[in-house]
Parts: sequence; structure tokens; C-alpha cells
Amino acid sequence: MTTDLGMPTVASDPHGHLRGTEPFPVAAHRALADTQLRQNLGHATRTIRAKRAAVVGEVDDWEELRRAGECVKADVMARLPELLEQLEASVTARGGVVHWARDAEEANRIVVGLVRETGSDEVVKVKSMATQETGLNEALGAAGIAALETDLAELIVQLSDDKPSHFLVPAIHRNRSEIRDIFLREMPDVDPDLTDEPRRLAMAARAHLRRKFLSARVGISGVNFAVADTGTISVVESEGNGRMCLTLPDTLITVMGVEKVVPTWSDLEVFLQLLPRSSTGERMNPYTSSWSGVTPGDGPQTFHLVLLDNGRSNVLASPDGRQALHCIRCSACLNVCPVYERTGGHAYGSIYPGPIGAVLSPQLTGIDGPDDVNASLPYASSLCGACFDACPVRIDIPHLLVQQRAAAVEAHGRPTAQDLAMRAAAAAMASPGRFSLTERVVKLGRLLSRSGRIRSVPGPGAAAWFGARDMPEPPAETFREWWGRRERS
Ligand code: SF4
Repeated sequence: MTTDLGMPTVASDPHGHLRGTEPFPVAAHRALADTQLRQNLGHATRTIRAKRAAVVGEVDDWEELRRAGECVKADVMARLPELLEQLEASVTARGGVVHWARDAEEANRIVVGLVRETGSDEVVKVKSMATQETGLNEALGAAGIAALETDLAELIVQLSDDKPSHFLVPAIHRNRSEIRDIFLREMPDVDPDLTDEPRRLAMAARAHLRRKFLSARVGISGVNFAVADTGTISVVESEGNGRMCLTLPDTLITVMGVEKVVPTWSDLEVFLQLLPRSSTGERMNPYTSSWSGVTPGDGPQTFHLVLLDNGRSNVLASPDGRQALHCIRCSACLNVCPVYERTGGHAYGSIYPGPIGAVLSPQLTGIDGPDDVNASLPYASSLCGACFDACPVRIDIPHLLVQQRAAAVEAHGRPTAQDLAMRAAAAAMASPGRFSLTERVVKLGRLLSRSGRIRSVPGPGAAAWFGARDMPEPPAETFREWWGRRERS
């Protein structure tokens, strides 16, 4: 069965995969009807939440650490151009080559050109949100270059021609037996008696990948952090596949969103404490790879760093909105979000799902008029605030969601159904007579009620409102009627 993810197969937008093809409520409705998906997501997010809570609870100064992370990121944003130039100088001094990419298209063009220069027609990749954002695999494929994802979950997603639905666990929407079926169907060399035991699945993936690691001449990675004063790039991962991609090939190409820079190693120390506890619920990361330029006779002998903007400068221009760039992609906000837990990541359309994706995607692309599907994303939240409480760098996501809702209303240019409803409510509440009349009209809604709920009301404005909600049946007696009766008795 193929899954319609609401995303184009090849990134036709210069921004890459930051926009889906349908508004969030439409995609969410379909996702909510998939009970298997909801079971998979519920189980996975509950497990990760419990692990995170346990290890975060062990740290006495967790709140101080969060504040330190917030302050370092605020400092980085305040002097981002200066730090990026420092990073470029440090990487260049250590034998690396730095490229600047305005948008996803330019980044892909640069990477495809660099791979072609090596004469290779295949690359191994370590999981990277930046290259998912640019749609690099599709661009490489169009140029006749095969890109092999080596992270287990990314491999599952790639083999099933699917898209990631979570930052950290891209195949969170799949369960073990679905993964076994994918392996049996898509891995030519797999044992036909493969079971869905996690160890057996991991061994099958390892055997499949090992030959590629040994033969690939080009590796492609993303970045978790880049230290400006030494030009050191750091990638954290849990499976060791990253270590293979970063050390075995002759050429390493790394794509980095410009916000990933930190000033010094002591700043990096803060994030290496915050990230593993918030993401995988571990005290420290199993594999942390760091490298500075190239070292003769040791590891890749050619290193390219592609610095990706793709809308980040626009986000930086907003003094308030720029805090979305503080995100370290730990996914803690996804795991606590009641909306994400029920719909999963594909409903967001953009490669960045969950609460931070609902803010970051429209910020990066801008909201392009009333029909832009990204205008619906900031509404994909109950504004409960759980995302802020979980965020290791204290991004005030609820505030940013409200800000983006205002931007969506502004981009709309004409009154929305919500505006009209608010205006009608204001008019009804402006006089006691009108309010009393409104109460009587609302009571008629009882005729539309089924099992105590009203699920739809005729009329285009009402259809938009009830498309995403239902409401309780109005009481048989209004407050005023009840009060009058009480006073009379
Ligand atoms: S917004 Fe905060 S909690 Fe969410 S992924 Fe980014 S760093 Fe993690």
C-alpha cells in the first residue's frame, strides 16, 4: 500500500520539502482514521516520554542548564554573521572548503556538483534533517547518483518509499512487523525467515549496509553543532553508522543549517548534556563524532561544508520569532504534543513536524497568501504549553504559534470564518435584547444534536468551523431562563 504524504516526490519548491500539498486539517483527518498509526505513535511517544522524564529528573540543575542553552543560542543569533565568518575561516584554515547556499535548490546544486567531481555514482548518508529539507536524495537521484540512508529508521523510510515523520525516530509510524515486511520485500539479500525481533531486524540492516560502507567513496552528513573558533563539526547518533559515513569515504560533504553554529567548545558542552536526555532519554550520546577540516592519512581527505540559509535569514530578522532557530531538533516537543501524538508527522506536510515544525515551516517559507497550506500549521496546537515545558532550550513555542496565527490572518487579506464569527459574537453581546435573541437561536441547535454533540451545521462558515471541531448540545434552559425561574420561585 502506498501512503499519500501530501508532499511532492521531487522538491519543486526552491525551499525544498517545507510545504505539503494540503492544509493540516485535511491531512490530520485522514491520519486520525488510521488506528494502526495512532497505536504505533501512542506507544512510541509514551515510551520516549517516560525515558526522558526519568533521566531529566536525575539532573539537579536541569533548569539552569536549560537557561544556559537558551542564553548561548540567543547570543549566537545576535551575532550570527560574525560567527559564520569565523567558522568559515576556521574550517578553511584546517583544509576544508566552505560553500554558501541561499536556498534548497542551490544547496542541492552544489552537492550534486561536488559528488560528480569525484566521479562516484553513489553516496552513503548519515541522517540529516537539512538534506531532508532540501530534498537532496531526489536531486541526487535525478543526477543518476544513488543515495543510501544508513540510519536504521531512515533506511526503513527509504526502502518503503516513505517520508520521515519524526526528527529522531523517522519511522515512528511503523511497528516491528511492518518493518519486517518492508525488509522482506525490499532487501534482496535478506534471510527469508526474518522475524520481527528487534535484534534480528538490526542484524539484517547491518548486513545490508556493511558492504556499502566499505565501498562508498563519498559520505554525506548533516550537523548537530559547529564550533566557530576551531571549525569543529559535531554529529551525534546512536547506531555507529554515522561514524562509518564520516570516517571511511575519501570525500565528506556536510550540509548545515546556518543556525547550528556555537561559539566555543564550552558552549558545545551545554548542548551535549541537554540533547541526549531530551531526545533519546539517555544520559549521554552513544556516538559523538567531531572533526576539524582534514587530517592527512586519517579519515576523508576532502571535506566540504555547505552552509544553508533557505529562509533562516528572514526568521532571524524577527527579534521575537528568531528563537525558533534555537531548536536543537531533540523532538521532545513532538513527544509531549497531544496533536502530534494523534496525527503523526506526515499531516504537517513539511519535513519539520510537531509544535516546532508548525512554527518553523511557515517562518522559513513565509505565508504566501490565503491558500498557502503552511498558513494552517500554527493552528495545529491546543496551546497547552507542554512543548515549552519540555524544550531544553526554552523556546516559547506557544507564543510563536500565536504570532504565526497573526501572520496567517494578515496573509489572508480578507476576513476569515473566525473573524466573521467573532464579529457576529461582538454584535450579539452588544445589547441585552440581541443577546437574549441569540440564546434562543442557539437553543434551536438542539435539533441538530446527535448523542449530545452537534457535529455539523449548514452554511459555508459553519462548515469550516465544524470541519475541525464539534460542540456540546446547548442546554434545554438558558442561564437567564434558569435565573428568572429561580427568582420567581
Ligand atoms: S523546539 Fe525545543 S523541544 Fe522541540 S525539537 Fe526543538 S529543541 Fe527540541
